[in-house]
Amino acid sequence: MANRIVIIGGGFGGLACAKELGNADCIVTVIDRRNHNLFQPLLYQVATAALSPADIAEPIRKTLGRYRNINMLMAEVVGIEPTAKRVLLDHGGTVEYDRLVIATGSDYNYFGRDDWRPFAPGMKTLHEARLVRQRLLLAFERAERTTDRDTQRDLLTFVVIGGGPTGVEMAGAISELGRFMIDRDFRNLEAEQFRVMLIEAGPRLLAAFPEKLSSYAAAYLKRIGVQVRVVNVFSTSPAKVSSSRARSSRPAASCGEQVSSRPQRRSGLD
Ligand SMILES: Cc1cc2nc3c(=O)[nH]c(=O)nc-3n(C[C@H](O)[C@H](O)[C@H](O)COP(=O)(O)OP(=O)(O)OC[C@H]3O[C@@H](n4cnc5c(N)ncnc54)[C@H](O)[C@@H]3O)c2cc1C
Repeated sequence: MANRIVIIGGGFGGLACAKELGNADCIVTVIDRRNHNLFQPLLYQVATAALSPADIAEPIRKTLGRYRNINMLMAEVVGIEPTAKRVLLDHGGTVEYDRLVIATGSDYNYFGRDDWRPFAPGMKTLHEARLVRQRLLLAFERAERTTDRDTQRDLLTFVVIGGGPTGVEMAGAISELGRFMIDRDFRNLEAEQFRVMLIEAGPRLLAAFPEKLSSYAAAYLKRIGVQVRVVNVFSTSPAKVSSSRARSSRPAASCGEQVSSRPQRRSGLD
């Protein structure tokens, strides 16, 4: 019998592996809880209304359709039994394998502040990107409806926490979106009322990159109107984010490091 290979996860890693095995002498089953592959690097463009969700998602079946030896199952893997060599699916079924590839990606790390999660969604799924987009656009709509200048300024102050690549991209995209919308679409709002802050707890933006690039990113963000704060964020509440120098009512997104996400372990695994 041909080798049965199960790949959990139809993201970048899982699909790259599946394509390598396409039309080889084996039977491949790709299992993903979603039926589409998501191009995550463009999620922030969905969040800032520059792209629509359909632009960055493609059905996994379409991507793999040309390989007759590859099957796709939409299901969540809830456990692995290595002794019996099978994976357990959320709807109760099982799939047996000779070889198993786990490519389940990563999840956001809120650095010990999981209580921020409901107020500042991550940026890993279309749902989260839509949520951020909805909050951004609704803030502008509410600001347009009120005549109180303080309320307007409050509604138009956005805070992005985390100066890694996603935070830098998000802050830049919100700034460009806001200025464009105020200029073109909103009659009661003025550009001076609109603020975007990027707060980073470490010593500089893009800490994983060379210092030269951090300085370039900081200078570029400043040029497009983002206020960069490199400080320790010490407290939050649902309505307020405080740091030693910034105070705002609108945490738009929290852009943390990513940590691995694995299917839950079941019997047979330590
Ligand atoms: C906002 C953002 C911007 C980024 N920008 C860049 C960039 O500019 N350049 C760059 O190189 N990288 C970028 N990345 C990182 C890049 O997207 C990831 O490194 C890449 O997606 C990782 O691929 P992966 O296959 O490991 O995981 P993923 O692409 O996340 O795929 C994992 C898959 O596993 C599935 N899955 C997880 N658990 C289960 C389960 N239990 N059962 C079934 N299915 C499951 C998920 O549904 C998902 O489809 C960015 C990421 C984000 C979030």
